[in-house]
Amino acid sequence: MKVRFAPSPTGALHIGGARTALYNWLLAQGEDASLVLRIEDTDRERSTPENVEQILDALRWLELDWDEGPLSQAERRPEHEKAIAALLESGAAYEDDGAVRLRVPDEGETVVTDVIRGDIRFPHDSIDDFVIARSDGSPLYNLAVAIDDLDMGVTHVVRGEDHLSNTPRQVMILKALGEDPPVYAHLPLLHGPDGKKLSKRHGAASVQELREQGYLPEAVRNYIALLGTGFDPEREFFTSDELAERFSLERVSKSAAIFDADKLRHFNGRYLRELAPDDLTARLEELTGRDGLAPAVALAQEKMQTLTDFWPLAAFLVERQDMDPKAWDKVMKDGADQNLQKARAALAVVEPWGLEPVERALRDVVEELDVKPKQVFQPVRVAISGSTISPGIFESVAALGREETLERIDLALERFSQT
Ligand code: GLU
Repeated sequence: MKVRFAPSPTGALHIGGARTALYNWLLAQGEDASLVLRIEDTDRERSTPENVEQILDALRWLELDWDEGPLSQAERRPEHEKAIAALLESGAAYEDDGAVRLRVPDEGETVVTDVIRGDIRFPHDSIDDFVIARSDGSPLYNLAVAIDDLDMGVTHVVRGEDHLSNTPRQVMILKALGEDPPVYAHLPLLHGPDGKKLSKRHGAASVQELREQGYLPEAVRNYIALLGTGFDPEREFFTSDELAERFSLERVSKSAAIFDADKLRHFNGRYLRELAPDDLTARLEELTGRDGLAPAVALAQEKMQTLTDFWPLAAFLVERQDMDPKAWDKVMKDGADQNLQKARAALAVVEPWGLEPVERALRDVVEELDVKPKQVFQPVRVAISGSTISPGIFESVAALGREETLERIDLALERFSQT
């Protein structure tokens, strides 16, 4: 088995394109199977080195590797021209105003056999003789694809459904050369939960966007692999080997697959919580360009769904933050200053400093004042973090240390006296 992924380098890698790449990659994990990466760069204007690099970068981020390539379709023009000459020579094609057209019989049909959709019939009376080379000699897209698949020994063409209408033309070109077409499998398109074609409106449409939003490549991979493949619905975590073992083209559903960014977020959160703390810390240190994040990571890991959740949640553990005025107005009222005073006094004498003693001290304050726990904990939280959202309050106070906690509480009390 030989499969290929053949992106046109138009910029970012669409999530649908990533799915196509992943399915081909999964097929290529079997013994005696290989994957060729072919860059369909015949549109010279769009095919800039930067655009090619973006695609390769997205594939590398997803850890999808290939056995052969990247090969450039544009560089294969001599092979395309050879095929055009052979088709002219045999009479299967003819010149028309300088262009070259392939002869399509008036009668009969071309049947495309597709693993996912079965036989699809294309009656010839609806297909005119079609151009395979322009009058300047440049080969057309369908000719280039058919010849490349043939020359590269591709046995299975797995690609997006948007290419189904091209397929009978590619089949006719191959048959006119006396060759057998490969096996085809056209993947249904990706839709958002509203049933419309996947776009930015659905949260993200490209792999680059997912990366910027702090998703983990392994979670994205796993989520995409499950889209429309009917894998064991009870299970969400698979290793790459398990995915490759379970994947088959026959499992791919005919109907559009739904990409749900909320589900992916949830899914990513579960992956994130499973990560070894060292691993997560290394990723976050790379992302933020800071070191020494391990203590903050230890507290934030439980509450994060994406890597980008980390900084808003845990920055206060690393450095002092500006007060969020909304958080202040919401919490710092109705005797909050007295509660904060008491908490400060209790924390000042906690011995030894540590999670359990801190928790006990703060709970004692609640009891002594006979108030609701949040009437003490929230003012402390806002004082130390500047926000109403943070990791656990006892853990946060303990991690911040006595001196820093007291200083921040003092700053809050000062602010109180000024308002
Ligand atoms: N280059 C095409 C694309 O990016 C794919 C062509 C193919 O897979 O045959 O949509």
